[in-house]
Order: sequence, then structure tokens, then C-alpha cells
Amino acid sequence: MKISETMIPTLREVPAEAVIASHQLMLRAGLLRKLGNGLFVYLPFGLRAFRKVENIIREEMDNIGALEFKQPVVVPGDIWKESGRWETMGAGMLKAVNRVDQELVVSPTAEEAFTATIRDELSSYKQLPIVAYQINTKYRDEIRPRYGVMRGREFTMKDAYSFHTTQESLDETYEKFAKAYRRIFKRLGLTVIPVRADSGAMGGSGSEEFMVESVIGDDTLILCPKCGYAANTEKAACAPDIACDKDGKPQVATTASIEKVSCPGVETIVQMEEFFKMPAQQFIKVLIYKAFNSELDLTNAPGCKEFKCVTDESGIPHYPESFFAVAIRGDLDVNEAKLAANLKASEVELACEDDVIKYSGAPHGFVGPVGLTKVPLIVDESVMTRNEDGTFVVHVHDAVTGGGIADVDNIHVEPGRDFTPFMTADVRTVVAGDKCPNCGAEFYSKKGNELGHIFKLGYKYTKTMNVTYLDENGKQQIPTMGCYGIGVDRALASIIEEHHDDNGIIWPMSVAPYQVAIVPVKYEGTMKVEAGKIYDALQKAGIETLLDDRSERPGVKFKDIDLLGIPVRIVVGEKNLPNVELKCRNSADMQLVPATEAAAKAAEIVKAELAKLNG
Ligand code: ATP
Ligand code: MG
Repeated sequence: MKISETMIPTLREVPAEAVIASHQLMLRAGLLRKLGNGLFVYLPFGLRAFRKVENIIREEMDNIGALEFKQPVVVPGDIWKESGRWETMGAGMLKAVNRVDQELVVSPTAEEAFTATIRDELSSYKQLPIVAYQINTKYRDEIRPRYGVMRGREFTMKDAYSFHTTQESLDETYEKFAKAYRRIFKRLGLTVIPVRADSGAMGGSGSEEFMVESVIGDDTLILCPKCGYAANTEKAACAPDIACDKDGKPQVATTASIEKVSCPGVETIVQMEEFFKMPAQQFIKVLIYKAFNSELDLTNAPGCKEFKCVTDESGIPHYPESFFAVAIRGDLDVNEAKLAANLKASEVELACEDDVIKYSGAPHGFVGPVGLTKVPLIVDESVMTRNEDGTFVVHVHDAVTGGGIADVDNIHVEPGRDFTPFMTADVRTVVAGDKCPNCGAEFYSKKGNELGHIFKLGYKYTKTMNVTYLDENGKQQIPTMGCYGIGVDRALASIIEEHHDDNGIIWPMSVAPYQVAIVPVKYEGTMKVEAGKIYDALQKAGIETLLDDRSERPGVKFKDIDLLGIPVRIVVGEKNLPNVELKCRNSADMQLVPATEAAAKAAEIVKAELAKLNG
């Protein structure tokens, strides 16, 4: 392709709206333009890379025997009502009503559509397993679309769904996807961090997320340098640590009884450290949380007569709203995702000041664990842990806590003696420096974005949507299911995020929009003729080549070709002929080769690079 015949509108300036490298470079190198908030146009140059990403994913799906489908993007609301997600998906799902008042959904994902499709085709166990996928448009009304196509509203996802007669069959397919994903990411030149949702702590994994490191990542990953433990901070656990006193010695139990200390205005942990001249590790802070849809059995919990328990169609009794006091060591933070999981709640949030006073008797900052009668007390395992036999091991001793009334703190508080928990749980936010529960090494942490996800769904959709088949004995059975997603746009952006320098993109050969660029210093005379010959030879060899036929100054052309990130560059200049200059974008080395051999040499590099990525 001659540059003059395509449309690659490069930009000199960094567009103000773009804060991350991939977004800036996708705009600057003419891959992408914004049409609306979270809505993007791929220009021809960008689309070539996009299609390559798509095709690599497609090839690897085909390789494991997955069958390609294409669902409509707009689907009937009815199937979403069947699964129950019409109500629960929230504002992220774009709904529409057509001229005959039918309710429609612009697919944010396609479990419902595939489950409905398979339901209609499935009759016998002989048809299973079925592994179906598509590469198709999704729409999610993200509150804050940002970082270009990294988090857009409309985007393309490869989503796959599998249906099985047995758990073993699901496990087998899941493993195939786990392998295929690793191959996909290798071929795309992407370094991913696989994160098991259960962090390996409970044996078999039901879910794995593939994360890419990113300074703007929405997820925090907790990683062990020694044993490879990797977990999202929403799931990460750590080894217990020993709480120390002001002399750095392990805290010891006190026999002194609780004393009240007046301390007006001493509310924060930092203020408490100053006032009491003690380390935060010897404080127990207590926070009041409001939980939504908790499925815990609270029949015997303090104060819980007040919370309304309901049982709806789901058949599971739950509390639409309930409150909890959460006690944790003073230097630690509560992780709300871990807390929600422990409370079997859909969500938790800090209670408002009125509720804090209502349930604890004290304003925020003076809430204590002693004498709470209106809420169940959840105690983090940093403070105490419960043995199998119901006895406790106490980790924080002789503690300072809120006094349960305004402007008063308690000292000499002994967990177990002065308060007992309704439940102990691991709800702390694990951070870099905490110790790995598997091997004891010190964690480090990274920010990341989810690029792909594989998940054993089980019967969630097949049950609610009544999918059945007849087994060998003619008995009706329900299939079990898996689902597997990768964001195509996010993969493309992540590739640029990982492969660029100050001058522009550095495409891995597998996804480069063009593999070779030919830049005649001037597009005239012998330079034009020689460039034309190399171009024809490369075209003939099936190498995707861009010929810079513009009448720009050489400096401008070189800058542009670097910005575009074409892996191999051939410069045809008068002073070097009959030789030409051959340079790879990912290295500073330059070599002079006879013009007659340039095409073959470049083709060799292209093939070698491809073999490396695909190997
Ligand atoms: P995130 O936590 O980033 O919102 P998710 O958990 O909602 O992701 P899934 O529902 O598992 O994502 O979707 C599968 C894949 O689709 C993701 O791994 C990601 O690559 C991609 N994806 C999800 N939302 C977006 C978006 N708004 N823009 C671009 N890609 C997206
Ligand atoms: Mg999301």
C-alpha cells in the first residue's frame, strides 16, 4: 500500500484527552478517532491491527474445536427476564423499546443468547459437549468510559460458552481454554498475569483472570515473588503477623481492667498514636457497615430482630439491609469486597453517621467493640482467630479502642475477655510487604487490568432458563456450563501499552498493520525506481508493505514511520545506493544491504519474528 492511497492521519501533538500511552498513540498514529463518549471509530490503519488480533483469537478458538457463531447484537429482553438479569444487571445494560413495544437489550454479554440458542437445539447427550464462541460487538453503559478503547462503551469481545453433561467434561474444556488463552497472549506479544480467583487456597480453581500490568489498572494484584501466588486484592489473603507494642516486642495480655480515657478530638489513628504514644498495631478500630442482601443466618445475632429477613423467588432467606460492626487492627484497612463475601452480601458500604450512632452509641472515631448490643460484631483475624473448638487465639492485646461514647476511648481492652465476636473473618486489605500464606515470602503488588476471564458457571443459566437433554437412560438432565471472554479492543490497546517508546508504537510482528515500510528519501529518480522494485518483490513474497510515496521531508517521514511502529524499515537514499538501509523498529542497529537483496532480507526478518511469536 502506498501511504498516499490510504488514510493514516498522524498527529504531532499529544491529544489532551488521552492520558495513557496506548490511547495517545492510537490517536497520534491514526488508528482511532473518538465519535462519542466511549464510542470509537477504527481508521483503516488501526483496523488492520484490530483484525489481526481478532484472527489470532479466532485461530486459537478454532484450534481447540470451538464453533464460531454470530448472535445478533440487539436481543429480546425476554431472555434476560428468564435468567433474572433483566432486573439485576443495573444501569450498565442498555435497553430499548421498538415500535411495537417490544423490550430489547443491546448485548453487554451473551450468556442468555447462547443458552437460549443451545436450549432450542439440544435434545440428546450425544450432542454434548458443545463449545460455541463469537467475536462480536458488546455495549456496556460504563459510568466512566476512559483510556480510549481500554474501557469503552461499545467494544468487541470474544465470548465463548460451553455446555457439558459432566463436571469432568467441563473441567477438560476449561483446561483447553486456559491453554488456548496462554497461546493467544503469547502470539499477541502480551505479558499476562494469570490470577486464580480462589488463589489456590482451596484447591481446584473455578475461575481464572488474565491480567495485564498497567499503571492505570483498575485492579490491584498481590503477587508472591517466590511461589507465584497471585491474587486480586479483592481476594488476596496473607499469613498472620504478630502485633507489636511500642518497643517492637510482641504484645502481651493484660490483667488490668478497662479504663476510660477522655480524649476529645482524638479521632483518627494518627491522632491516637500521638495521644496514647502507642503504635497503631495496638489499636482496634471498629467501623459500622451497612450490608445489602446478606444471606448470613442472623437469627441469633445481637440486634438482628430489627433487620427484616425476606425470602423471594430465589428461595434463599436474606436481609435486604443489615448492619455490622467490623473490628480490625488499627494499622489495617477493611477490604469491602472481602467483607461482602464473608457477609454473603451483594454489596457493603460504610454506614452514615446517623446509623453509626444508632447502632454503636458513638460517633465515628469513638466506636468500640465492647458492649455492642445492636449489631453483630465481625472481628478481623488480625485481632483474633477462632479455633475449631470455638476457643479464640488473641493477636492484639492490651488494646486501645473507641469507648462507645463521644470523646472517650478505652484502654486495657482484651479481646475475648472484654468482647466476643459474632464471627471472625479475614477482611483485611492485603498490601505489598504482607507475607504470602503459602510460602511466607514478602508480597509485592502491581496495578492491572483484566484482559480475559475463564469461568466455570455451573448450572446458573441452564437451570433458570430450563435447558435440558436426555441422558443415556432417557432421563432428563440439565447441562453444566462454562464461559470464556477476551476483550479484543483492550487486547489491542494493551499491546501498544506494552510495546512502545517515546517515538511511537513498536508493533509485535503478529499484529503490525504493515510488516515492512519502505522510505525513499525522496520519491523521485532512481530512489523511486529502486523503492518500487523492493516494494514489488515484497508484495510478491506476501509481505504486507507500506511505501512512503509522500513528498515530505525525510525527517518527517522517519518520524512518522517510527510513530506508526512498522517493525522493519528500509530507507532508500541516493548516497547509499546500490545499497539500502535496513532497520528494525525494536532495535537501534542499522545495516546496509544491496538493494537487490533488501526484500529477501526483510521477508526473512518478518518470518523469523512471526515464528518466534507463534512458536
Ligand atoms: P472490568 O472489570 O474491566 O470491567 P469485566 O469483569 O466487566 O471487566 P467481563 O465481563 O469478564 O469483564 O468481560 C470480558 C472481557 O471484556 C474483559 O476481560 C475485558 O477484556 C473486556 N471488557 C469488559 N468491559 C470492557 C470495556 N468497557 N471496554 C473494553 N473492554 C471491556
Ligand atoms: Mg465491567
